[in-house]
Amino acid sequence: MSDTPSRTELSALGEFGLIERLASRIQLQHASSVKGIGDDAAVIDPEGLHQVVTTDMLLEGVHFDLSYAPLKHLGYKAVVVNLSDVYAMNATPRQVTVALGLSNRFPVEAVDELYEGMLLACKNYGVDLVGGDTCSSRSGLVIGITAIGVANKEDIVYRNGAKDNDLLVVSGDLGGAYMGLQVLEREKAVFKETGAQPDLGGNDYILERQLKPEARKDIIELLAKLGVKPTAMIDISDGLASEAIHIARNSGLGVRIFDEKLPIDPTTYKTARDFDLDPSTCALNGGEDYELLFTIAQADYDKIKGNPSITVIGHMTDKASGYMLVDRQGGQHELRAQGWDAFLKRS
Ligand code: ADP
Ligand code: MG
Repeated sequence: MSDTPSRTELSALGEFGLIERLASRIQLQHASSVKGIGDDAAVIDPEGLHQVVTTDMLLEGVHFDLSYAPLKHLGYKAVVVNLSDVYAMNATPRQVTVALGLSNRFPVEAVDELYEGMLLACKNYGVDLVGGDTCSSRSGLVIGITAIGVANKEDIVYRNGAKDNDLLVVSGDLGGAYMGLQVLEREKAVFKETGAQPDLGGNDYILERQLKPEARKDIIELLAKLGVKPTAMIDISDGLASEAIHIARNSGLGVRIFDEKLPIDPTTYKTARDFDLDPSTCALNGGEDYELLFTIAQADYDKIKGNPSITVIGHMTDKASGYMLVDRQGGQHELRAQGWDAFLKRS
């Protein structure tokens, strides 16, 4: 037995062989998935509901780095980030399609691993993979995913529905994915310089936040159970500050966030300190947490009060009050939407 994993060139299978191989692993579970892989297009029955459709692209070297992102995790994340957008509309994802640009340095086994992650995400979130496209790429791996979901017309939540005085609420905790990325980048740099094996110990939580995030399906279900319909909602891909401003701007309002309310996990906090970064800044501007940020009417506060999965971090104000961050001393600072991209370039 050899330790070398077997390597089958993509050219040995060909495009159709590859698609057949992928298709053979897929079993459709929704009646609404009328036709999956195997015709010119998939066929979906909306079953009388509104459909929501969203697409995200992930580019090697821009959104991920294959030197530390395992392919299975990458496949998982690529699906999850799209599902997160569907949940952010208060809808339920049902189908995804997957477009792949593959360089010829990719063996069939690598594509298998990528799909392993994608299909695991599909299984965990109850979604059918119904189609896609496969091309060769000369500039690294390209993954484009489209997710399709459904909702009752009256349940859909837009970014523009917030009202003055609504509470601003966030799920989970913030800044973890960004700190996970910092640890991965540091260990990559050390490895390049010294050849030392990465020391990732004790960072499981933030590494998972970066490499294998989850979409907050549970929060959508929780809100439905509590009988709370957010007035506006968005998922946090670019960072809390940027997303809060999106809700405020789209709703024609201002927003006020309280620094002391930001939910930060202890591992995130400690790692930020180790890197000489301000944990609050990481929570405000480090992206890719895929938590849900939403507004609710004050009247709904009692229904969500004390729930450990969600935190009230501020409230909406009139437009003239602007976008503000209130520090622990009560001082007000203008909230800036750096987004995680700009944030990275700055450091
Ligand atoms: P066309 O040339 O008409 O675009 P393709 O050969 O690209 O057809 O696709 C054939 C079938 O395989 C379609 O159902 C398509 O959705 C599916 N498919 C192609 N690539 C992928 C992929 N990477 N993942 C899942 N399904 C795919
Ligand atoms: Mg095609």
